[in-house]
This record gives sequence, structure tokens and C-alpha cells, in this order.
Amino acid sequence: MPSRRRLIVANWKMNTRHQSAIELAGTIAEWAGKQGQLPYDMVLCPPAQLLFTVASAVKGSPVKMGAQDCHWASHGPFTGDISAPQLADAGCQYVILGHSERRHGHGEKSELVARKLEAAQKAGLVPILCVGETAEQKEQGRAEDAVREYLTQSLPANYDPRHLVVSYEPVWAIGTGRQPAIEEIAHTNQMIRSILGQHGAETRILFGGSVAPSNAGAILASTEIDGVLIGSAGLSPEGYIGIATKANL
Ligand code: PEP
Repeated sequence: MPSRRRLIVANWKMNTRHQSAIELAGTIAEWAGKQGQLPYDMVLCPPAQLLFTVASAVKGSPVKMGAQDCHWASHGPFTGDISAPQLADAGCQYVILGHSERRHGHGEKSELVARKLEAAQKAGLVPILCVGETAEQKEQGRAEDAVREYLTQSLPANYDPRHLVVSYEPVWAIGTGRQPAIEEIAHTNQMIRSILGQHGAETRILFGGSVAPSNAGAILASTEIDGVLIGSAGLSPEGYIGIATKANL
């Protein structure tokens, strides 16, 4: 059975400015640097204009950096977009793709996410692919089908499962303080792993949705949950570190 290092990802979304990003990333990096060998990976995903700021704040520490989205092309006439090679050039090792705020706020379809995922892996980035049912899909009893559909349609034909992270993020749990029961998360993560098949044994499958220091211990105690994707709790050093320490199993 392959050992999957836990992964603690903070998605800062459209928050922080130059100074607050330096303070937040710097405090987390300083803390991480004092911990010796950590048994888990730490990733911060700032907004794009702060990538260089955060790259320099975490330099020399175990903390890695990710972006929140990328374009499917490597370069070209795409106003306002950023390509995967550009993100790698800025120091990113990861990129979040298919977040519900892009799927539902920007109408991104899974087919587009699949093209982005292919571009990200080609550029040497590890995509963190988000999939999760909406409140409506859950109420209609279609949660599993929805997750299966988002997942299978967001994966390009020749993806590399060893350089892939999937995060199960029920949309109704994001920013609401509500969460599925741990057994339900574990069940969905098992389903995701079975869809990935034998090659998915090394893929890390996270959970995201209102994760906080108070509930992270129970979530991370499950062997089916390889880490967490954090939104609002990741905007303070106490929140992020309070969650990360719960991965010290
Ligand atoms: C998210 O947006 O991916 C998320 C999990 O947010 P929060 O932790 O704030 O629910």
C-alpha cells in the first residue's frame, strides 16, 4: 500500500494584499521551518498578483506554493489569463483547478477543466482538482452521480495520477460551517479512488468545506482523507497552523 503524505492546502481566494501576504506566508513559513521534518506537505495558494511576494516569503522553508487557476494554452492572446508555464516560472508547484467558484461563478465546464489539467501537468504542476455536489444535487439524491461526472469529465485522456490531487468539496459545505459526516466524506473519497482505478493508489484525495482547527482532527484521522483544502481558516496563521498540526498523526 503506497504511503500518501498528507497535504494541507490554503486557498486565499481574492484576499490579502502585499503586506498582509508577506505577514501571513512569512509567519507560516517561519513556524514550518522550526518544526524539523514534517510528516505532511504545506501549500499556500495566494492570488496571482502575490505569487512572487509569497514565493519570496516562503523561500528556504518547507512551505510550497500553488495558484488558484490557469489557462489551457501555454501563451497567446488571452487577456487576463495566466498559463501553467507562467505559474511554474513564478515558483508554483501546484494549481487548484475546477474550484466551485470557477465552475459555478464563471460557468467553467468540466471539459475546460480537463484541458487546464493537461496543461498544468505538462508544465510540471500538480493539479488540485476540485469536485463536489451542489446543495440542489444533494437534495435530489444525485450527489454521488454529480461527483462521478465532475471527476470523470475533468480528467483528460492521458493524465498522470501520480502527479494529481483531487479534493472532494461539496459546494454546500464551502463557507457555510456545514459538513458531511466523516463516514460520508470517506465513502465519497473511496468512490473517487475507485474511479481513478489501480493507477490512483498514489493520488492524494483531500476534503474541503468549512475545515477549521476544531474539526480538522476528526477529518484527518480518517485514512481515506489525505489532507484538506482550506478557505477562510487559512487566512490566519493560527487557523492554518491549527489545522496543519492535526495532520501530525
Ligand atoms: C473552499 O473554498 O475551497 C473552501 C473549502 O472554503 P472554506 O474552507 O471557507 O469553506
